Amino acid sequence: MRILLVEDDEALGDGVRVGLAQERFTVDWVKDGKEALAALETENYGLLLLDLGLPRLSGIELLKLIRGRGMTVPVIILTARDTVADRITGLDCGADDYVIKPFDLDELAARIRALTRRKMGRAEPLLVHGNIVLDPAAHKVTLDGAEVNLSPREFAVLRELMENTGIVLSRDRLEQSLYGWNEEVESNALEVHIHHLRRKLGARLIRTIRGVGYVIQKD
Ligand code: CA
Repeated sequence: MRILLVEDDEALGDGVRVGLAQERFTVDWVKDGKEALAALETENYGLLLLDLGLPRLSGIELLKLIRGRGMTVPVIILTARDTVADRITGLDCGADDYVIKPFDLDELAARIRALTRRKMGRAEPLLVHGNIVLDPAAHKVTLDGAEVNLSPREFAVLRELMENTGIVLSRDRLEQSLYGWNEEVESNALEVHIHHLRRKLGARLIRTIRGVGYVIQKD
């Protein structure tokens, strides 16, 4: 999943970016509200992490704008401890959750997973498909109970497909979830990841829909 981080504090922003990369999320980081709006208009994000005190366009103004335009991207606001009123305004303006600075990265990652589950209408934390179980928190995949070794990108592709079973994901959408702005998209890399996933988890797990993309059918 690709995440847009909007935070003007250099140290905090860098910490979040690095921490979430370790959680196998792709993170684009911008430092003001206008840049954030431009990014949201051009890229497909699974989540927005939004600081409220921002240059050029505040977090609340940005939130009102994007909700006014019908953008449904889930939003977690990052706020200071002494700003209860801001948190309430944020939630009432369409944010889904908040964390209070300084926050624990593990807690933030857990809230992201919880929000993703809710968005997909799922209560169960594990993603299960037949004999394959993916644990988003532990970054583990098992096949018939035995752990399967996946690279970080193979894991990210599988998580994206298992979170969207029955939906054909285009090559573009999958690549967007894998690569941030500063990363070169290697040509054929996606095909290679799919090939490895099929070899490790079974040839029939992921179907290719020619000219459209890839899908894991519902059980
Ligand atoms: Ca700030």
